[in-house]
Amino acid sequence: MTSMRTRAEDLAQRRERMVASQIANRGVRAPAVLAAMREVPRERFVEPAMEEFAYEDAPLPIGEEQTISQPYIVAAMMAAAEIGPQDHVLEVGAGSGYVAALLSRIASHVCAIERHESLAQAARRRLEALGYLNVDLVVGDGSRGWPGARTFDAILVSAAGPDVPESLKQQLAPGGRLVMPVGEREQQRLVKLTRRAADRFDQEDITGVAFVPLIGAQGWVE
Ligand code: SAM
Repeated sequence: MTSMRTRAEDLAQRRERMVASQIANRGVRAPAVLAAMREVPRERFVEPAMEEFAYEDAPLPIGEEQTISQPYIVAAMMAAAEIGPQDHVLEVGAGSGYVAALLSRIASHVCAIERHESLAQAARRRLEALGYLNVDLVVGDGSRGWPGARTFDAILVSAAGPDVPESLKQQLAPGGRLVMPVGEREQQRLVKLTRRAADRFDQEDITGVAFVPLIGAQGWVE
């Protein structure tokens, strides 16, 4: 019992340090983002053998040749998306479910799409076990957008495409923000689109990144 408590405390302390040194110290100041990163236990979103490395400044393997993204990049994406407590948010590329979990602590509701059934199942189990119940996670090709006609206040795409898929642009609500890595298969720029009118989007460049590819009808071919 004592050793279990010590382990949990140790991980909580590493999480605090990760938020201070990797995130706040690098300029992410959004209080809701920092609070979510302090709350969600990243070690629960990796395989037990990887738990030891959960608070390192790096992506980690999650199976199916995919990764859980580097915490700083996740924080930078969420801050750029300016997510508020009333927002309905879409994440494309749910992977382990970690980003969906973080988003669920900030937004009113999260829809998430993952193309690998095995990852989606594991992610759903984790979210449920942690009591993060305002997340709907489906298996599918998120480059086509969320199934059915609806819009979101913010969209985060956690995999890189050659361009921002038109379906995702059309699922942005007026004033909505989309953050996504765009560019070559190996290296991309993280961009932010803000929908100003039906057919007018402002685009900002955030930083250079290296994400796994968005595979799908409006992404890359496998
Ligand atoms: N956000 C995830 C997390 O917190 O663990 C990590 C995302 S990982 C960098 C990218 C994910 O995008 C992978 O799990 C991959 O299978 C998924 N993916 C790639 N193309 C996709 C598509 N068209 N639709 C849905 N998911 C896709």
